[in-house]
Amino acid sequence: MGKSIIIVGGGAFGIATAWQLSQELGTRSKYSSIRVLDRFLPPSPIAASTDINRIIRTEYADPVYMQLAVQALQAWTDPEALFRKHFHRSGWLLCGSGDDVGFVEQSEENAKLKGVHGAKFMVPDEVQSKWPVVKGPMKDWRILSDPAAGWAASSKVLVEMAQQSAGCGVGFISGNAGHVRELLYDAYNACIGVRTVDGTTYEADQVLLTTGARTACLIDMEGQLSALGHTVCYIQLAREEADRYRHIPIIADIGEAAVFAPDENNVIKIASSIFVTNFKYSPVSGVSLPGDLVERTVPAVLQNRLRGWLRQVLPELADRPWSDSKLCWDTDTPTHDFLISSHPRHKGLFVATGGSGHAFKFVPIIGRYISQLLDGAVPENLEKQWKWGSSTATSRETGGKPMFPTPALELGDLLGWQPVTAKI
Ligand SMILES: Cc1cc2nc3c(=O)[nH]c(=O)nc-3n(C[C@H](O)[C@H](O)[C@H](O)COP(=O)(O)OP(=O)(O)OC[C@H]3O[C@@H](n4cnc5c(N)ncnc54)[C@H](O)[C@@H]3O)c2cc1C
Repeated sequence: MGKSIIIVGGGAFGIATAWQLSQELGTRSKYSSIRVLDRFLPPSPIAASTDINRIIRTEYADPVYMQLAVQALQAWTDPEALFRKHFHRSGWLLCGSGDDVGFVEQSEENAKLKGVHGAKFMVPDEVQSKWPVVKGPMKDWRILSDPAAGWAASSKVLVEMAQQSAGCGVGFISGNAGHVRELLYDAYNACIGVRTVDGTTYEADQVLLTTGARTACLIDMEGQLSALGHTVCYIQLAREEADRYRHIPIIADIGEAAVFAPDENNVIKIASSIFVTNFKYSPVSGVSLPGDLVERTVPAVLQNRLRGWLRQVLPELADRPWSDSKLCWDTDTPTHDFLISSHPRHKGLFVATGGSGHAFKFVPIIGRYISQLLDGAVPENLEKQWKWGSSTATSRETGGKPMFPTPALELGDLLGWQPVTAKI
């Protein structure tokens, strides 16, 4: 008889795990029951992974993540794998100016050292002549171009992975019956299950929390996680106009923002790299956490900054109305390392979180490492890097240079911002 597991949270880490375990079902039959509990069916409107796109790239200043990203990119481009049709090889320009140049240069150094070739530096004139629609000055930018990178249709791929997992026997429970209110423990402090908002209790041998930005609503994360809201704005273009932008690479300026080519619905997305914390309106005192639902109002100061940034890159779009906007919440560890670990004091309880704004690209492969964690067999270097309590204030993910260097702003300090939630 196999084990039972409850995965709480069907976002990037949760579905990647369910999918991986579902691939192993029937062969090794480690599990007799796998259930994913989420407040919503995928794609959850409150998940960090729910969006039209996420960048898939291998540039990292930390060789560990770089190597994992190389593995992941192989999976994204494998013609036999389900990921391939969701991956769009647009290329990307990793850009930085001032202090941010260090991260760009470290990434290139590292790629060379590890034998990952293909990326090369470009100057703004070269960018403008290769993609004439990119008319902004990109003043003093250091620009690394990697044509092998691209974007994945993040919501779509997770929905397909969830469907495949369900087809292999994974149970998906949503609504109040999937919305976990609390964890259940026995007299020895072992975690034995969960209770949901409708009062149902579910028991299992293992409970894996993949609840992203909201993890600290369920357990004390001991200061290891801080939820950060990312401002994301969208511009709807007409088809003919979108065609002019269709072939631009992702342009990502690490201290400011990133812009993507239009998707199949002719929507261009611009995401800010200046994040917000939410201490003032947080449901747990002293911890930055998102509000209850999706915030469709985004801080005016960040909208204006995004427009200013667009003038540096795609000036023709700088004053267009947003067709949509939202605050999208992920959760960061101090080092930007993931937190993929057993709980040090609650037997049976595991966490896979701390996506830190960069976890999505690993969706094809991260489930394998989480599966190894559940078996107590993660490779030693990863175990050390991802373990509960190992995240310190020195950034490893970026080799000492913060990947998103601009300090976060507190929502409560931003004039005119209201904690208004929109209907989902
Ligand atoms: C705007 C933005 C841009 C990003 N860009 C990139 C990128 O370009 N490339 C990249 O690699 N990464 C990127 N990331 C990071 C990546 O998307 C996240 O790190 C990743 O999605 C985190 O996955 P997760 O499973 O921890 O959380 P989520 O994907 O947020 O999933 C958490 C799930 O838990 C559920 N949940 C929460 N609480 C409960 C509860 N009590 N009961 C039941 N269910 C619950 C939610 O409904 C949700 O489905 C970006 C993140 C953001 C926000």
